[in-house]
Amino acid sequence: MAFESLADKLSAAFKKLKSKGKLNETDIKEAMREVKLALLEADVNYKVVKDFVKNVSERAVGQEVLESLTPAQQVIKIVNEELTALMGGQNARLVFPSKPPCIVLMCGLQGSGKTTHSAKLAKYFKGQGRRPLLVACDVYRPAAIEQLKIVGEKAGATVFEMGQGDPVKIASEGVKYAKDHGHDLVIIDTAGRLHIDEKLMEELKNIEKTVVPNEILLVVDAMTGQDAVNVADTFNKALPITGVILTKLDSDTRGGAAISVLQVTGKPIKFSGIGEKIDDLEPFHPERMASRILG
Ligand code: GDP
Repeated sequence: MAFESLADKLSAAFKKLKSKGKLNETDIKEAMREVKLALLEADVNYKVVKDFVKNVSERAVGQEVLESLTPAQQVIKIVNEELTALMGGQNARLVFPSKPPCIVLMCGLQGSGKTTHSAKLAKYFKGQGRRPLLVACDVYRPAAIEQLKIVGEKAGATVFEMGQGDPVKIASEGVKYAKDHGHDLVIIDTAGRLHIDEKLMEELKNIEKTVVPNEILLVVDAMTGQDAVNVADTFNKALPITGVILTKLDSDTRGGAAISVLQVTGKPIKFSGIGEKIDDLEPFHPERMASRILG
């Protein structure tokens, strides 16, 4: 599971703190140094770590903490709160418009998990009584359309495809089909590349302008390390991203890049992918994730 090593290191730092009883500023400084190292080793972006430690330190050296009966607990509580804030604070949900359908545009690099998560979302919202339609706009790899059909079937969702035509046209025809057939949720799976290129961005922008999605979800592979931060930054500057789906959190990733993605884009993580199966999707709860990391 992601964040395991970070969790271990933080737990070791806090164990030391707890064993001390009353704390002074030096104790807190020492603990913060360990927290900083743990976050850096977990691959959290340097600037994000610096700000985080500064925020926690400022709160932790306050008189209330130092004079409290359980200062270590107070410090841990502050770290928990700041970590929750770092991961977005509140639960972020998809926003459904009052007039259906809700149009969701999926974007991200190839292999990040777009197709898989399009289907996972369809299944998830089907379970909540919605009627999702999956739209196949990844037209460059014939296998991608086939893959969407296979996972779409697993999700019990209709898949709209027009073969390898113009993705902008397919997206708008897909939305039209949804309106005509009573689908209240349209999930558009788009093409990814191994690297960002102009043509891909132009295509996404054209789809965006044409269908005007309610949600643009950036699919980010938690395993890609600091590169994920650059990728997210570029997508975020090109498109009005509304949220992030963080995938492969079941893997052995250090996880820190994921935290940084949120800080760099300012966009909340709405869902996390925790496996390859159709049901391996969870709404992202920052406070639960922070508690999991802090053990
Ligand atoms: P796309 O190119 O962005 O559409 O990516 P895919 O949906 O094809 O996913 C790429 C690979 O990652 C596939 O082998 C998926 O099974 C795998 N994958 C996707 N999401 C997850 C996840 O949450 N956990 C794990 N372990 N694998 C995933």
